[in-house]
Amino acid sequence: MKNILSEQEIQQLRAETRGTAKTIHFNNAGSSLPPDVVVDTVIDYLYEEAQSGGYETEYTYREELENTYSLIARLINARKDEIAVLENASIGWWLAFNGIDFKPGDEIITCEMEYVTNLIGLLHAKKTYGIEFKVIPNDEQGNFQLEAFEEAIGPKTKLIAVTHIPSTAGGMIPVVEIGQIARKHNILYLLDACQSAGHVPLDVQEIGCDMLAVTGRKYLRAPRGTGFLYVRKEIQDKLKLFFMDGFTTQWVTETDFKPRDDARRFEVYEKSRALTLGLGKAVEYALNIGVDRTWQRIQYLAGLLRGKLKDVKGITAHDFGNELCGIVTFSVDGIDAATVKNKLAEKSINVSVGKAVSTLIYMNKNQLSNIVRASVHYYNTEEEVEILCGVLEEMV
Ligand SMILES: *Cc1c(COP(=O)(O)O)cnc(C)c1O
Repeated sequence: MKNILSEQEIQQLRAETRGTAKTIHFNNAGSSLPPDVVVDTVIDYLYEEAQSGGYETEYTYREELENTYSLIARLINARKDEIAVLENASIGWWLAFNGIDFKPGDEIITCEMEYVTNLIGLLHAKKTYGIEFKVIPNDEQGNFQLEAFEEAIGPKTKLIAVTHIPSTAGGMIPVVEIGQIARKHNILYLLDACQSAGHVPLDVQEIGCDMLAVTGRKYLRAPRGTGFLYVRKEIQDKLKLFFMDGFTTQWVTETDFKPRDDARRFEVYEKSRALTLGLGKAVEYALNIGVDRTWQRIQYLAGLLRGKLKDVKGITAHDFGNELCGIVTFSVDGIDAATVKNKLAEKSINVSVGKAVSTLIYMNKNQLSNIVRASVHYYNTEEEVEILCGVLEEMV
């Protein structure tokens, strides 16, 4: 993969992110360094609320706030009325998932990389609704098995719920092909795109998913405490609602009510307007550079890192599959992941520890407990990759 962003552009982008001057940040799968404009937007908005009043400030910024929905819609090629802005992805996933009218015996198909929140959701649904779920294991090369997936579909299959990019490995699953099969069999499709939003280009029309949950703080570079849920217009009425208030309903009389006619029925009225604006800014920032362009650079940098790690004796890489992303996972012989992380932190290098619980099925299958996760973003540099590898080399 080519490095498509010029040196000058990278320097400009780094100059727009305060954190890059201080920290070598390879924890973008945990939480990216946000662009300055995102941070300033949030802080300025809070100051304005303090000076002018919360409702008054909201009125002043009503168009910008509204624009957050349009920007998110553009990012994933959806419609504005298919987006709910939420505090995180877990809530979004949980609302979508538990909104489905499960009956005892219904079947769900998932992948071995499914995220912990979602796995708990599946187990909970098994206990409470009496559903069953099947896990499609990756093949020996670490690729999702499309044929096994299609074979697993039966008359009782109600949902396919999968994670696009896992939180503790660099592989990806073929979400478009999965969508084609889901549509062919007319099965609901819920996609966890937490690690992919802002990382790889996402197009819900092409993917064909019915629901998609995203967090803001990871590759999207939005503030913590932000996320969104996409729900295809046609299925909004099919999902049960858990919270309702005067905002999420279209009208209320003393004897009846009707939910809003858009995905904001999945929100509640009270939330941080400052963070909603910050999320919008982060999405705008990503759109301005172009996720298709930054994705190429991420692949280039991750490839560089993987290549260099291969040359370091005592390091074992754990990323499998034909399609790899910016998440690079590995172990260092004789040093546990937490110690590696702490030693790197002493040099202002941030990586994180991928815990077994995050992707339990995959980690158990591969007998992994804790691994080191270095997740690169487009604003990282070749030099930073060199420094990381240099420090690791000294360590082993
Ligand atoms: C981080 C993550 C989540 C959860 O996102 P929150 O915003 O923390 O709820 C879900 N799925 C995957 C794959 C993740 O990496």
